[in-house]
Amino acid sequence: MTPRSTLHALEPMGQGTAQCESLLSYFCRLAVSHSVSTTDLAKFVVDRAGHDIRRDFVWQQRNLSGVGESARTWAAWLSELTGVGNLDALTLSAWSAVLPSRGLAPRRSHWCPHCLREDKESGSPPYFRLSWEVGPVQACYRHKVALVETCPHCNEVHVRHHGGIVVPGWCTRCGGFLGDADTIPAEPPALWVARQVEDWIAHQMNTSGMPEATTVLATLDALILGLDAGRYASFARRIGQAKSTVHGWLKKGGQPSLVAYLGMALHAGLSLDHVIRGDFAGWKPPTPAEQLVLDLGAGTHVKRDAPREHDWSAMRKELEGFLKLPDPISVAEAGRRLGVDDRHLYLRANDLARSLGERWKQHMLRQKTLHRDLAKSHLRAAYPEITNAGRPFNLTEVRQVVPAAVLSAVEGMFGLIQEVRDEPG
Ligand SMILES: [Zn+2]
Ligand SMILES: [Zn+2]
Repeated sequence: MTPRSTLHALEPMGQGTAQCESLLSYFCRLAVSHSVSTTDLAKFVVDRAGHDIRRDFVWQQRNLSGVGESARTWAAWLSELTGVGNLDALTLSAWSAVLPSRGLAPRRSHWCPHCLREDKESGSPPYFRLSWEVGPVQACYRHKVALVETCPHCNEVHVRHHGGIVVPGWCTRCGGFLGDADTIPAEPPALWVARQVEDWIAHQMNTSGMPEATTVLATLDALILGLDAGRYASFARRIGQAKSTVHGWLKKGGQPSLVAYLGMALHAGLSLDHVIRGDFAGWKPPTPAEQLVLDLGAGTHVKRDAPREHDWSAMRKELEGFLKLPDPISVAEAGRRLGVDDRHLYLRANDLARSLGERWKQHMLRQKTLHRDLAKSHLRAAYPEITNAGRPFNLTEVRQVVPAAVLSAVEGMFGLIQEVRDEPG
């Protein structure tokens, strides 16, 4: 007989899926389940674990779901007290050999309102996803929206789990439901990052081929050789890292940040899960034309002074602006203004480039009709003037009366003169 657990044996939500719950969320739900504050539950856990921890310990300041010692320790303590094993799967602590804890936590607590709403509507308790605790993630891939950090009811931030009483899904300040917040569609780069991280989280339970500290070097070797023929300076530039940073990974055993791993995955055409595990079985470096270049967003070490054509999210914004110009411009002109080959606009921003092209085509057609109509009205006015003077109605005579600019804007002037000459009356 296994002993009765001290704390309720809550079942973690979404384990083994992209919707995996974070340990932080689990901890908050556990407090709710016992009708105690999170502060009291934290004290209780620390006391029971017999650990020598400062009395003024603030659990919110620990990254309970990250790769650091806090995550591993708290997962073990909670597993012990609840009798629910594998709670470390609600953290990223399995990756501590290859991923640094610094910079992994998000700057603010955020959430996907749709996820919380769906939880509530399905009758299960709303909970925080582990992916929301991963710094570079700014979007929910499932709902394709940007994560939200402001309470829709009181407009405050830091209201998701900062408080003594935390009921996941409800504002810790005003008690309003956080799933009521409005959302905006996520940008493609943010969606790509969210998808990579969510897939990676979904495969966490697959513990075969877990990386060790030596995996980092093997990964770097494979990628630097495959992508940049062994030149680590080019590789550093490619993934938006300083040369000295990559040198540090190679010579001093440093660990690449998650953003760096994402950059590697992007350029290698592999999933984050493959890259971070160092799984390159059957990998062939993509040809340059196949490579997507994305801006990995805020809080990264991606160089801001990178060539403009590498920042496709900014480029898309400019293209969207061009589409709203009162005077349409061609794709070639858009390319000139952005300093990019217009073919790349079709390759990397296909939808917008095609919209620009179509708008330009329609504009040119309208212009052509307009110029033709204008020239025709000039010719009609000139006709009596020329013929009444007994002169022939031809191009030479027309040139004496109609402004050159009007004539030069029209192709097939002979035909047009003929048309006007043949008009009845
Ligand atoms: Zn969502
Ligand atoms: Zn609120």
